Amino acid sequence: MDISGVVTLKKGKDHSVERFHPWIFSGAIQRQTGTPADGQWVEAQSASGKTLGFGHYQEGSITVRLLSFGDVRPASDFYVTRIKTALALRAAAGLPNQNTNAFRLIHGEGDGLPGLIVDYYDNAAVVQSHSYGMHADRLQIANAIQEVFGDSCRAIYYRSQISGKQQTSQQPEYLLGHKEMPAIITEYGSRFYVNWEEGQKTGFFLDQRENRELLKSFCHGKSVLNTFCYTGGFSVTALKGGARVVHSVDASEKAVHLTEKNLTLNGFDPVENSCHAIDTFDFLKDKDGIYDVIVLDPPAFAKHRDARHQAVRGYQRLNTEALKVIKKGGILFTFSCSQVVDRQLFYNTIVSSAIQSGRQIKVLHHLSQPADHPVSIFHPEGEYLKGLVLYVE
Ligand code: SAH
Repeated sequence: MDISGVVTLKKGKDHSVERFHPWIFSGAIQRQTGTPADGQWVEAQSASGKTLGFGHYQEGSITVRLLSFGDVRPASDFYVTRIKTALALRAAAGLPNQNTNAFRLIHGEGDGLPGLIVDYYDNAAVVQSHSYGMHADRLQIANAIQEVFGDSCRAIYYRSQISGKQQTSQQPEYLLGHKEMPAIITEYGSRFYVNWEEGQKTGFFLDQRENRELLKSFCHGKSVLNTFCYTGGFSVTALKGGARVVHSVDASEKAVHLTEKNLTLNGFDPVENSCHAIDTFDFLKDKDGIYDVIVLDPPAFAKHRDARHQAVRGYQRLNTEALKVIKKGGILFTFSCSQVVDRQLFYNTIVSSAIQSGRQIKVLHHLSQPADHPVSIFHPEGEYLKGLVLYVE
């Protein structure tokens, strides 16, 4: 890798890097040598001149995202090595397998690659960059995926999703091959259409795989409501679990159609199991005593720390409404994917919804993100998906 400059930390600011935390904030930097541009590689040094690691430079609050620690310069096989390591972790977790052919291959900091997300769908990789550095390195990353997967990887689709500063002018594109949309993936034996050219994020929310599977065991003979349904993942698994009827809700027409298509693909009737393009808050208004099981999987209400208070109020209102209308003996699956709302804050928010609902409630499960969305133990910010399964007396 070409190194374009050296970033030297203030005295005492090297502790978190020594503990393998990959972010260097602008306030921790004493001086820079060279004139690194956004996306270039730099070396990070302690105040005493010790090499701490190497990473991508990007002007902003997080100025350097470290990709390697220690004084060994990343070599040309850097991405190949990281991808092999990531694949070994998935293999240890039993992914992919006969019943599941879609998994997250790279989960940013959790795989030592801050700014990079790669989801692997059967035989295609969908690559998303969240930093200028990953954007700049996209061809190396695509080559590395090809080298590791060989002929089994038929297509690599790339899109940049750099938040904050201006977007790159880069349009999404195939860096290898091409796939007709939508593709079909298998998850625990259920089949889903995935459209990464038009869908949200990489086209499918793989992070709910284990939670969708858990839902099955609560649905036999039950009436189920799946809100914020997007591709209808929870709707399909509820029916696979023997639900009597499932209603699905999403504010987006496109999502509702996708859910209908996925119900049909799995042999379920989308007329009987109706899908509604409506705001969840509006839908819940007159639904007292109809549903045994309700799933609440809203989008991140807060993307930034300053929006946290507003987000908490949103979660609180949503959960209160659901807890009020759910049938006696009902089950609520409730989630938050806002990284800035941590596990304790989410729990406290649900406690406050429980109080407002006036119902007796028991906690059955604490839910999280699956093994293919790993969290570096030194980077707790990587944990973002939290959920609870509640029994409502
Ligand atoms: N549960 C899904 C992922 C949900 S993504 C899964 O397992 O794949 C969040 C979804 O919420 C998006 O599809 C978005 O269109 C929808 N959405 C956002 N705000 C909404 C609202 N107020 N009411 C209903 N749906 C909403």
